[in-house]
Amino acid sequence: MTLPQGLYDSHLHTPLCGHASGHPREYAQAALDAGLSGICFTDHIPMPRWYDAPWRMRRDQLDEYIQTVQEVQREFAGRLDVRLGLEADFHPGTEGYVAEVLEAHPWDYVIGSVHYLGAWGFDNPEFVDEYERRDLGTLYRHYYALIEGAARSGLFDAIGHLDLPKKFGHRDPQGAAALRALDTIALQGLSLDYNTAGLRKPVAEAYPAPDLLQAAAARQIPFVLGSDAHRPGEVGSAFVQALDTVLAAGGRVITYQQRTRQDNQA
Ligand SMILES: [Zn+2]
Ligand SMILES: [Zn+2]
Repeated sequence: MTLPQGLYDSHLHTPLCGHASGHPREYAQAALDAGLSGICFTDHIPMPRWYDAPWRMRRDQLDEYIQTVQEVQREFAGRLDVRLGLEADFHPGTEGYVAEVLEAHPWDYVIGSVHYLGAWGFDNPEFVDEYERRDLGTLYRHYYALIEGAARSGLFDAIGHLDLPKKFGHRDPQGAAALRALDTIALQGLSLDYNTAGLRKPVAEAYPAPDLLQAAAARQIPFVLGSDAHRPGEVGSAFVQALDTVLAAGGRVITYQQRTRQDNQA
């Protein structure tokens, strides 16, 4: 199966984050080979030094990130549209720091993701045992309250991997908090990262789940396709299935350029 013209993979990492492999040029080549029209690098944003430091580039590496992606942009000009964005974290108290980094460069696209509940990196396989100590209903209510905070912060274009706490199979027993978060996301005019990485995790399902995809599409929330690739072989992963699923749910697929929505889909 081949991909239709005009598709972008808008969630890609680079080795600068310390847990991805392959030169950005190899991600671009993989995108070309997969039949994509463009990509947007969205590596993990630098954060204050006390926050999750081993899993992201340092602030003093930001220029190297920008320059490397710009080199790849030039190398692939006319063959593949290469854009430059960030996956930013929403963590209360760090908004000012994040705003500074976002002002440092004219990014194409900024994803807002929640990876921490308090001091717990809940998507880190090393700390998965913590789920056993938690009430899942409370966990998801807390998580979606943070997602609403991210949506209201005005910092981001899209919310990353909406139902991330399901990663290891711990599903939301309720669902009302997720729907409230979708109301806020729609009201604030944000999009959703339709993220195929979940298919490669124990939950074996893209983010968001089919019911949340439906609920988002019903609220006219657009989707930005992303593989969340941490190596070149993951670029465009499961995108035929992803596109089918989003369109079948009545969803619209868009991309961002200079933080403005683009309808790239032919
Ligand atoms: Zn990562
Ligand atoms: Zn993420």
